Amino acid sequence: AAAPMFDRIAIVGLGLIGGSLAAAVRERGLAREVVAGVRSARTLETALAAGVVDAGSQDLAEAVAGADLVFVAVPVAAMAATFAAMAPGLSPHALITDGGSVKGSVIAAARQGLGAHMRRFVPGHPIAGKEKSGVEAADPLLYQSHRVILTPEPDTNAAATAKVCALWTAVGAEVLTMSAQEHDQVLAETSHLPHLLAFSLVDTLSRQGHSHDIFRYAAGGFRDFTRIASSDPVMWHDIFQENRDAVLTALDRYVADLADVRSAVAAGDSDALLGLMTRANTARAWFL
Ligand code: NAD
Repeated sequence: AAAPMFDRIAIVGLGLIGGSLAAAVRERGLAREVVAGVRSARTLETALAAGVVDAGSQDLAEAVAGADLVFVAVPVAAMAATFAAMAPGLSPHALITDGGSVKGSVIAAARQGLGAHMRRFVPGHPIAGKEKSGVEAADPLLYQSHRVILTPEPDTNAAATAKVCALWTAVGAEVLTMSAQEHDQVLAETSHLPHLLAFSLVDTLSRQGHSHDIFRYAAGGFRDFTRIASSDPVMWHDIFQENRDAVLTALDRYVADLADVRSAVAAGDSDALLGLMTRANTARAWFL
């Protein structure tokens, strides 16, 4: 068999995203060894029992020692402390990448915490996930046929970006590259705003007075629309905080449009309402 692409991959933050990459790497034999940097001993026990990793440590500097690639997949607000904790253990040739849902704030955290290793840090975001979290939900096929966005900085080493790109391609993903700023804007619109709306709608209805009972009358459409409100509150709290500016821009534009929709409903403006829904139908048919 061909030599594995990596000698040792360290996964720091072994939840859904980190655990799924570990499982995919294992299944495809992309690394000779997969080790984990974990916060809780229980996570490591679960992962070892499931055969997802070979070893691990709660000491993050120890966990990344000797790794030629380090994938950081902790919640975005924990990135800064995580980079700082692991930096002393990084080898001078280690490639570092992450899976955080916000890129601007993670890059700022990396510049603070990674020091001279920053040139080998390739910011990334797999556009794949589910409402479940934790290593128990890890799935070696999570990234298959999904997109991964890499947002290298002007000073990011090109060979590092190419190697991280090759890893994602090897687990079945399609890699796209853009600036962190563009990523944060686009994701604020296509992911962060819809999650905010889903959480907020379910919350509004649940506080409507007749208790949670009204959900008994909810049909499939309501389930489809609000499925993402089952996602992890801590993860989403972090995303709304760390991508505040882009989320606010997207939210303001939406609130303004919603006010127009309200006016059209109030005025019985059929042209405006039919126009809106026809445009939405057409857009969805084209793009989704
Ligand atoms: P998760 O809750 O399943 O996993 C996070 C893991 O990080 C947990 O094992 C947790 O114990 C660990 N952790 C938390 N703080 C830590 C710390 N300080 N040090 C070490 N470990 C710590 O969450 P997830 O869904 O795997 O998300 C991980 C990252 O991936 C987040 O940055 C998130 O924004 C991003 N992401 C998530 C999705 C998704 O749909 N779930 C999709 C793309 C990207």
